[in-house]
Amino acid sequence: MNILVINCGSSSLKYQLIDSDSEEVLAKGLCERIGISGSAITHQPAGKDKVTEEVKMEDHTDAVKYVIEKLVDPEVGVVGSLEEIGAIGHRIVHGGEKFAGSVVIDDEVIKAVEECNDLAPLHNPANLIGIHSCQKIMPDVPMVAVFDTAFHQTMPKKAYLYGLPYEYYEKYKVRRYGFHGTSHDFVSNRAAEILGKKREDLKIIVCHLGNGASVSAVQNGKCVDTSMGLTPLEGLIMGTRSGDIDPAIISFLADKEGIGADQVIDICNKKSGVLGLSDGLSSDFRDLGNAAEEGNEKAATALETWSYRVAKYVGAYAAAMNGVDVIAFTAGVGENNFLARKQVASYLGYLGVTIDDKENEKRGEEVIISTPDSKTTVMVVPTNEELAIARETLRLVK
Ligand code: AMP
Repeated sequence: MNILVINCGSSSLKYQLIDSDSEEVLAKGLCERIGISGSAITHQPAGKDKVTEEVKMEDHTDAVKYVIEKLVDPEVGVVGSLEEIGAIGHRIVHGGEKFAGSVVIDDEVIKAVEECNDLAPLHNPANLIGIHSCQKIMPDVPMVAVFDTAFHQTMPKKAYLYGLPYEYYEKYKVRRYGFHGTSHDFVSNRAAEILGKKREDLKIIVCHLGNGASVSAVQNGKCVDTSMGLTPLEGLIMGTRSGDIDPAIISFLADKEGIGADQVIDICNKKSGVLGLSDGLSSDFRDLGNAAEEGNEKAATALETWSYRVAKYVGAYAAAMNGVDVIAFTAGVGENNFLARKQVASYLGYLGVTIDDKENEKRGEEVIISTPDSKTTVMVVPTNEELAIARETLRLVK
C-alpha cells in the first residue's frame, strides 16, 4: 500500500509517499509560503531530479491539490491515480493526555485534537488544517494521527509533574509532555534491533539533536523521562531555543527591555540557543563549527555550552534509570556532527564510555561509535519519523 505522510506547519506542508511493502520513499516534497506571496512546491520523485514550481497556494487545501497533482503527473509523478494512495498519516504535534498512541482519524479524534490546541497553539491548528484539507480532496482515504507526544505518555508522575501548585495540573493540565516522541520510539527500537537485543531488556538514552533537540530515557521499552516539557522550549540548548532557563528571567528581561512576557518567550524560541549564544552568527552547527575553527570565541563557547547541557541530561537520565546500557545519537547534528558527539562523550567517562574516533567520524549511518570494551554502548541511529508514521498508519488501517 502507498501511504502519504503529511506534516503540516502554519505556512508549510511536507510530504512523503512511502510504499509500505518495500518501505521505499517514492516521492517527497515541500510546499512553502502557503497563503503568502511567492508560494512554491518542491517535488522530488525518487531517482529523478527535483522540480520547484512557484504556484499560488491560498491555503493548505490548495497545497494538498498540488501535491496530488505532482504525485500523479505523467512526468514527475510516481503513481497512476489517486486510487493508488491507500492511506494518509498525519504528524500531530500535541496529543495532550488524551493520546498515548496513534489513532484512526474520525470526528471525535478531530475534536480531541482541537481540545489540545491550547497546548500547542502554533502547531496543532496547522496539523488540523492538514487533516481537513486531505478530507476535502480525498474523503474516502483512511487517515491516521501520529502524535509527537504519545510515546512519552508512559512517564511516571514524578517525571511529568512540575513543582507548581497541583491545581494547575488539574485545571490546565500543566505538566511535562515531551516531543519528538516518534523519533525517540523509532531510534530506541532500532538501537535494540541493531544490537540484537530486546528493547524491553535495555536502559537507553536517546539524544535527538537537531535544530530542535531533546533527550529521553527509555527503560524496558518505555519512556520514563524526557527533556522537553509543556512545550518544545524546555530542556536542551537548541538551534534558536534557549532550553532550560530560570523562569524569573522572563519578567526580569521584560522589565529591563520594556517588552511583554510573550515577547521574551518569542526571543527564547527564535533568537536564543546557539544562535543567541554566538551573538546571532548562526543556528547551524556547520557554520558554528567552521567559525570556531577559525578562532571565533563566541561560536566555540556556544558549542561548548550546548554539549555541556546535553551531557548533563545524559547524566540525569543515567541517574533516573540507575544506569544506562545504550546512548543513541540521532537527527541532523547527532547523525552528522562527529565533533559534537565527541564533545558530549568527553563528559561520560564515569559511565565507562570510550569512543572509537575512527568510527565516530562516520556520518549519517547506523554505527556503533564506542569501543568494544566501552561499558556503555554509544551509537548513531539515523531517525526516520516519516517511515515511523507510515508504519503506524499501515498498522492501524490494515
Ligand atoms: P535537523 O533539525 O534534524 O534537520 O538538524 C539540523 C542541524 O543539523 C543543523 O544545525 C545542521 O547544521 C546539522 N547538520 C546537518 N547535516 C550536517 C552535517 N553534515 N554536518 C554537521 N552538521 C550537520
